[in-house]
Parts: sequence; structure tokens; C-alpha cells
Amino acid sequence: MFSQLNVCLKPIKFVLHKTEWLWVFGMSSENDLISKISELKKDLNAVILAHNYQNPEVQDIADFVGDSLELSIKAMQSGSRVIVFAGVDFMAEQAAVLNENSVVLHPEPGARCPMASMISVDDVEMARRRYPRAPVVVYVNSPAVVKARADYIVTSANAVEVVKAIEAEQIIFGPDKHLADYISEKTGKVVIPIPEYGYCPVHTRFEYSTIKMLKSIYKDSVFIAHPECPRDIRGIADFVGSTSQMVKYVKSCKARCFLIGTEIGIIHRLMKERGDAAYIPASTSAICENMKKITLEKIYYSLKHGMYRVSVDSSIAYRVRKAIENTFNVLGFEVPWK
Ligand code: SF4
Repeated sequence: MFSQLNVCLKPIKFVLHKTEWLWVFGMSSENDLISKISELKKDLNAVILAHNYQNPEVQDIADFVGDSLELSIKAMQSGSRVIVFAGVDFMAEQAAVLNENSVVLHPEPGARCPMASMISVDDVEMARRRYPRAPVVVYVNSPAVVKARADYIVTSANAVEVVKAIEAEQIIFGPDKHLADYISEKTGKVVIPIPEYGYCPVHTRFEYSTIKMLKSIYKDSVFIAHPECPRDIRGIADFVGSTSQMVKYVKSCKARCFLIGTEIGIIHRLMKERGDAAYIPASTSAICENMKKITLEKIYYSLKHGMYRVSVDSSIAYRVRKAIENTFNVLGFEVPWK
């Protein structure tokens, strides 16, 4: 399906700048690169999925932009042979779990989510031994081997709803302790975080005093925050929700100015959805360095050489799908792959 890798570009790729990359590929401009990507996509029957936190130019060439689970399901519905996932490692892995008959490519294997790597299979097993009656709910931002040990797999968009629907008062949840706290706050249930310290390094960069100051400057602004933010930040938010919920909220809200309490890549998406509003990052350092490792050049390289293929052991993938099916069932939704 893919041409053989005939030049060893890997050792030099981290020292080349954008224009130098174009030169390596024999292209004169970014437009040239974009048309080559489109040609390859067509030839390979490929689809490009981009997370809401991706670089603007990556979002612009993607077939679908959204959050991780939503994108994997879109890929499944598209029936494409090749899926290029412009996101971090667990997202590409999730796409491989749900699209076993497709080739899933991750353009940059070094784009890894630090929070997802904070949870291990041992954390789940220890918690199960300690709290044998508590179901294990795992955030989609986790490795597949961990998800395979879960009873339910949730996104930030449905975590509260799922935990409300589960018939148990005590829940084990990982890896994000702030999301665990948010779920507990909203459901009144005891949510035991595994590990105790799990967090997203990007969503913990917001500062209470800065947001207060911004709110006092932009008096008519609405502050929207992600549930991965700590409690003090969520406490001063006008709206708390996942990236897809933020997009819906902004589209339906009359406000003209929004303070953004999530990774700043979402602003590109919001500007496309509602260009008449102003968007101010609540922290200029809310940048996920891992997400930003995906570039147009790497997507081109990925499509051209079939790099880097992501696969998940079929017994692990089966167990992950079962846990996602449990989630759909508890919510009363139809399982999309049945
Ligand atoms: S924003 Fe946080 S949770 Fe999302 S990929 Fe980056 S580090 Fe992981």
C-alpha cells in the first residue's frame, strides 16, 4: 500500500525548520504540501482526524475535527482504509481499537499524553482489591491496556452522566484527579482517584488571580473551563464542559467575548464556528506541546510511507470495546458498531 521508506529522514527530522522540510520533500510552498496530502489521501482512501487542540493548519486539512472518541467513531462510519490520527498516542490507539480493519497511522509517535501515562494496570488492580464493590470507570485519556481492565470508559463529555447512571455509590476513577473531583461534585458519589496524583499538565496551568483579573477587564466576558481544571478554576467558570460541549455552548450563547479555560487550539475551531466573537486565552501557557508535535509535514510523511502504524492486541481491543459498550448501554444509547 505504501512506498518503501527509501531515505532515512528520522534522525534529521527534529532539526529541520518548516521551509527546510518543504525542501526535503521537493516542494516549494505549503499549498504544494497540502495538495500532495490531498492526492495521497485520495489514492489511499484515507481520512485525517484532528483533535480540537491541533495546530490550525492541521485542523484545516482534516476531514473531521473533534474530541477523541467522537473522531474514532466518525472514522468507523467513514469506512476508510487508512486513518491518520492527528492527536496524541492514546487517541490513535483508541482509533485502532474501534477500526480493526483499517490501517491507523500516528504521524508522530513522540506525541504522547503525559496524563494518560500516569495510570497503570497495577493502579486498577490494587484499587479493585481495596474496593471490591466499586466499579472501575476509566477516562478515555488512558492506555488501551488500562482501559481493557475497566468496567466503563468515559469522555469528559459523558463522565458525569455515566457515573450518575451506574448503580453504585462508590466509584474508582482514573487517571485525572480533577475530573474525578468534578464527577464527585456533580453526582454526590464517592469517586476514588487512581492514581491519587493524576492530572493534565496543561489544564493545571490556569491561575485563579489571572482569571479574576481578566474577568474584571473584560466585564462582559464568559469564562468557559474544561473539567480537567482544578476546582478553584472550575468554581469561577460560567460554563464547564468538554471541548465538544464548549463548541456547542459558544454557538448557542449570546455573549461576544469568551475567556478560554482549555488548550488554546480550540480557539481556531471556535473562530470558525462563531467568527463574530472574541476569544481570550485564560492562560497563554495553556499549550499542549505534545498535540503541537503533529505538523503538515509529518502528516504527509505518514501518508507517503505508512508511518507510524498503530495496532492493539485483538484481545485487549475486544475488552476495550466491551467497556465502551457498557458505557453506551448504561446511557441507553445504541452501540454504533452493532
Ligand atoms: S491537553 Fe492534557 S490531557 Fe490533553 S493530550 Fe495534552 S496533556 Fe494530555
